[in-house]
Amino acid sequence: MSVGTIWVLAEATDGTVASITLEMLAKARELSDNVECVFGGDGALVATELGAHGASAVHATGDLAGKLPGPAIAGAIAAAISGGAAPVAILCGTTYGGRDVAGRLSVKLDASVITNIVDLTNDGGLVGTEPVFGGSQLVNTRFTSDKPGIFLVRPKSFEAAETGGGAATVAALAIPDLGPSGAARVTNSFVEQSEGPKLDEAAVVVSGGRGLGESEKFELIESLAAKLGAAPGASRAIVDAGWVPYSYQVGQTGKVVKPDVYIAAGISGATQHLVGMKGSKTIIAINKDSEAPIFGVADLGIIGDVHKVLPQLLEALNARG
Ligand SMILES: Cc1cc2nc3c(=O)[nH]c(=O)nc-3n(C[C@H](O)[C@H](O)[C@H](O)COP(=O)(O)OP(=O)(O)OC[C@H]3O[C@@H](n4cnc5c(N)ncnc54)[C@H](O)[C@@H]3O)c2cc1C
Repeated sequence: MSVGTIWVLAEATDGTVASITLEMLAKARELSDNVECVFGGDGALVATELGAHGASAVHATGDLAGKLPGPAIAGAIAAAISGGAAPVAILCGTTYGGRDVAGRLSVKLDASVITNIVDLTNDGGLVGTEPVFGGSQLVNTRFTSDKPGIFLVRPKSFEAAETGGGAATVAALAIPDLGPSGAARVTNSFVEQSEGPKLDEAAVVVSGGRGLGESEKFELIESLAAKLGAAPGASRAIVDAGWVPYSYQVGQTGKVVKPDVYIAAGISGATQHLVGMKGSKTIIAINKDSEAPIFGVADLGIIGDVHKVLPQLLEALNARG
């Protein structure tokens, strides 16, 4: 049975809809027979892709012309709800943009947010599931108020799927007077330069940890990743040590990845790391300690020194051409 209309906050870069948006649409469709999107931008740019993933309508603000998106989108959603729109829930991705909108919306609607959602079910109303204690326990939470429930959903919690539907209809979402927050402008933005596949979208990820010994040895990870067409990743220990940027971090406070193959080299397998990669289809661990917890989730374990195993692996791959 449908829970009622669900709104999904759509995010896109240069007209390409973010994978988290498509993942949330897939789950929302399971729960509701009317799923609509809200979008800070020109709805025509995203209507086809959102419609193909099951959105019936996209409520779009139109071009934000350099405005900081969060205040404008949250203000517009709140105004639409005061004006009579009645979604039972608003799903936002756990992204910088999604968190900004969810927080502002919570204040504007005087409604609560449930964060870190990895599943949503219909149990006579929407119930969100979030992992706690590093993923060892799951907590189910529902809203008791009759205001729209705001859920912040973790990337890679659901699988995106097309429905074959036509383009979503585009409806104007008016931005009200935002007061001082409406004056905030984006003056510059940077796209992080990186070669190869993105960490959270790569089919193969090769991650290194403190077992590499020193920052220069991360080159072994990068060489192997380049050879396999993979994205390099890292444990928090070596991000905190300044060996690699935060954008490489896999885990509870980094990125969640679900590649076909995840290679963990010199990573112990702390629960905070595991929650970010244990959904990978095949996990290969290289660690010199046979008792390392990473072997508990590994499909294939190599007990050995990364400084010996990784060069041998590279040599074998290079020999193949
Ligand atoms: C709130 C919170 C959030 C956190 N979020 C994250 C997160 O998002 N991601 C994350 O990764 N961590 C996170 N952590 C940190 C986490 O608890 C661990 O400290 C971290 O994952 C350890 O990184 P590591 O495995 O590289 O290092 P270590 O735990 O030090 O493990 C190094 C491993 O390398 C092996 N090793 C050593 N030398 C070699 C060698 N020559 N060859 C082969 N193996 C070798 C050792 O046997 C050991 O197993 C978080 C912690 C907290 C408290």
